[in-house]
Amino acid sequence: MSNPTIADPAANLKAIEASLTAASAESGRSRAKVLIVTKTQPAERILPLLEAGWRRFGENRVQEAMSKWPALRARYPSAELHLVGPLQTNKARDALALFDVIQSLDRERLAQILAGEMARQGKRVRLYVQVNTGEEPQKAGVAPAAADAFIARCRDEWGLPIEGLMCIPPEGEAPAPHFALLAKIGRRNGLAHLSMGMSGDYLIAASLGATLVRIGSGVFGARET
Ligand SMILES: *Cc1c(COP(=O)(O)O)cnc(C)c1O
Repeated sequence: MSNPTIADPAANLKAIEASLTAASAESGRSRAKVLIVTKTQPAERILPLLEAGWRRFGENRVQEAMSKWPALRARYPSAELHLVGPLQTNKARDALALFDVIQSLDRERLAQILAGEMARQGKRVRLYVQVNTGEEPQKAGVAPAAADAFIARCRDEWGLPIEGLMCIPPEGEAPAPHFALLAKIGRRNGLAHLSMGMSGDYLIAASLGATLVRIGSGVFGARET
């Protein structure tokens, strides 16, 4: 997404969707959906998108999401909220109560705790397993070589509803091989949903089979750091 106008997130979204429609016509794949990443955005910037009918949103921090989304969802109960950032086990209870989808399942202890909390709260959220495709030591995610066993264990041992896979390729590396690797792991594990691609590389991700692209700055403009 080149040079998004900060002033008009809805227009940016329309342009992103148009580019995804064109990409899907070209590749013959169904069009990837957009997850609007609202981290650091105040509720006033999110509300107009809800008013305009957008319903799929992502946050990367449980605490921040808890400060904004309960009020927004009271007004728009059909909004769907995804957690795209790392989840600490001591926040699992809150995360389960708030989110519809957790995309950052990446270790057994968390799987175990989420399974217990789902039973306790009588609530099921959809889960994506995060894969550390670049095997970066500082990054969350299961190693590619450990993914199959981890997914099997989540399903068989804890009965978790694993729906898809998520990855964040290493900075400064070509993302395509990482997206292709995630797609391959998805295929061999029967997982149809792939959350991959952000503002800078979502069309590459879409061409490699992303079903969900996660867009923040391409919608709202560059985040302040
Ligand atoms: C912030 C974030 C995004 C969105 O990034 P942009 O480059 O602003 O589109 C996507 N995925 C995750 C996990 C994020 O933390």
